[in-house]
Amino acid sequence: MDKFDYVIIGGGIVGLSVAWTILENRPHSRIAVLEKEEGWARHQTGRNSGVLHSGIYYKPGSLKAKLCREGNRRLVEFCKQYGIRYETCGKVIVATTASELPLLENLYQRGIANGLAVRKLSVSEVKEIEPHVTCTAGIHVPSTGIIDFVGVCQKLVELVASRGGETRLGTRVQGFRAQGGEAVLETSKGILAADWMVNCAGLQSDRVTKLAGAEPGARIVPFRGEYYELRPERRSLVRNLVYPVPDPNFPFLGVHFTRMIDGSVHAGPNAVLSLKREGYGRTSFNFGDFVDTITYAGFWRLARRHARAGLEEMHRSFSKKAFVLSLQKLIPEVCAEDLTPGESGVRAQALRPDGGLVDDFLIVKGPCAIHVCNAPSPAATASLEIGRVIAQQIRCCETILT
Ligand SMILES: Cc1cc2nc3c(=O)[nH]c(=O)nc-3n(C[C@H](O)[C@H](O)[C@H](O)COP(=O)(O)OP(=O)(O)OC[C@H]3O[C@@H](n4cnc5c(N)ncnc54)[C@H](O)[C@@H]3O)c2cc1C
Repeated sequence: MDKFDYVIIGGGIVGLSVAWTILENRPHSRIAVLEKEEGWARHQTGRNSGVLHSGIYYKPGSLKAKLCREGNRRLVEFCKQYGIRYETCGKVIVATTASELPLLENLYQRGIANGLAVRKLSVSEVKEIEPHVTCTAGIHVPSTGIIDFVGVCQKLVELVASRGGETRLGTRVQGFRAQGGEAVLETSKGILAADWMVNCAGLQSDRVTKLAGAEPGARIVPFRGEYYELRPERRSLVRNLVYPVPDPNFPFLGVHFTRMIDGSVHAGPNAVLSLKREGYGRTSFNFGDFVDTITYAGFWRLARRHARAGLEEMHRSFSKKAFVLSLQKLIPEVCAEDLTPGESGVRAQALRPDGGLVDDFLIVKGPCAIHVCNAPSPAATASLEIGRVIAQQIRCCETILT
């Protein structure tokens, strides 16, 4: 049986950041990253908006606010050091009706409270930055950027491997027992043991937590986000990033325009319930995932509370016209012919039994294990910092044990 000091489950940006951080702190550790797919970053990390968030949206003092801001800074440093594509292009967030102005003001105050150099913009100032946008006012967030998250993962894999870490693809963790102070993991490619297991399984994180005898206190409910792409000849409608003011009751940010690091411009994502955790089409279905969602009381409580918003999102999923209408609130010149269907992603959002969405990152300790139970956006931006926090937690536990 192979024996490691640390085994990380999940080859997305969070798992790889954790592995690299541990090796940075303890260069001689025996470490393995296990990923069930045949490639890295195949789920949330490789299917997102590619935005390096600033941290403006999050409650001051929350893990999201702290780790996002510092994570942004550290990822920029990382990209500079290793030649990975990124651009700190800034973004505008705009109110499109007078009724949104108080929400925009709240967001501005939150940006200040989070220590960001946000700036209020008049209509003409917005137009100087994004000439095709229509609004009643805006704010500029200079530290937001765009980045190649998959490129970051490839570099992390290289760094982990160059320091002796094992990076194993096609290896699914399917059983766990804590035995004699060790985590014993049953995988699709045999059994291995470790002093610590770190669960960074994204859309499967609640299941892995339970498998390992811990209680996540929440269940992952998958929300698909669908994108359209602007035809190349219409990309000039958007210079950088254009966002609406988000609904404060909903963690998702509303459909927006994003210039990607490859030059394409994406519009979206919406947020619809997905009937398969790792399924990316409208008809993707998995019986077990579906049953897990509909037998969860928390889901029905959420559904009752946000029935209207949920139905609107579903309508927007099936009706391109409705999607375009939402986009036209930001850029009236956009029309259906400008947009072609793009990729989609599925968000792993933890939901409490009372129907409340877990707002902050959630990290839970179990026997010989640490579980990342909620790492939705901006966890890709915050990934290096999430890695730092987990490495620190492991160090604290090891100090107590010795
Ligand atoms: C539509 C969308 C847009 C987003 N936009 C942004 C954005 O612009 N900026 C930002 O910062 N964040 C964004 N996010 C959030 C961000 O993508 C995620 O927070 C981040 O990628 C989470 O990384 P992860 O490593 O936890 O999860 P993942 O990338 O999902 O990785 C988890 C990995 O675990 C593996 N795994 C699962 N179970 C097992 C098992 N039993 N054994 C072995 N391996 C297993 C999976 O195969 C997967 O590769 C967005 C997310 C979505 C879905």
